[in-house]
Amino acid sequence: MPSANDDGRRLSLLGAELEDLELDADDLEAADELAEQIQAAALAVAGSAGEDAPLLVAAVTRELATQAIDEEIEEDRAAGAGPACAAGCAACCHIPVSVTAADVAALLTWLVDQDEAVQQDVIDRIERALPRVTGEEPRGALPCPILDLESLTCRAYEVRPLACRGCFSDDASQCIPGGTISAFVVPQVISRSAAVGVRLALAEIGEDDGCADLIVGLAHAIANAAE
Ligand code: SF4
Ligand code: SF4
Repeated sequence: MPSANDDGRRLSLLGAELEDLELDADDLEAADELAEQIQAAALAVAGSAGEDAPLLVAAVTRELATQAIDEEIEEDRAAGAGPACAAGCAACCHIPVSVTAADVAALLTWLVDQDEAVQQDVIDRIERALPRVTGEEPRGALPCPILDLESLTCRAYEVRPLACRGCFSDDASQCIPGGTISAFVVPQVISRSAAVGVRLALAEIGEDDGCADLIVGLAHAIANAAE
């Protein structure tokens, strides 16, 4: 059973994650319930998983979050207000993406399974991107290193991070590479609340519980794996 400390940390993380969405009390309560459910589901698979824990947490939580997001999108479609998102539409892959350690573990496992050319492409693009992520150079419209630059599709679609799963818009013309994305609110609430649940579960089992820019997180994971 979660302690008062757990509840307090969850609410604090949710407050920070959802601040810009300006939710009302009922929506915040629903977000809190989802984060708690995700935390419990993550702990159920991670408890005795050892070094594979972040990977298992990523698998179980992306399934739960995707199911909740799919249900929401289906309701939008049924109401005639579905998303304009389609393969090859990728302004949202040219903005900063926040990832958990579980997201990074899933992307690293995907990368290890790719052929050498893809691996080298991702590594080269991360190296070139880092000065634009750390602020040494203007970030601008920086493509995600996972994005296939010819087809403008995600090469790791099946294991894409929670944040990517919650990004939908009904108007592609309002999605600006390197700028703002006119994204639906509820899918973002689901993906961000799920990420909070993941971070709390990782903290509980002594794993990295922070969040990072996708490019920085993946760069660190690749460097650690090479040691
Ligand atoms: S969020 Fe915007 S840029 Fe991304 S796929 Fe949907 S319409 Fe295209
Ligand atoms: S991981 Fe995939 S979906 Fe997410 S920003 Fe990168 S290319 Fe886009």
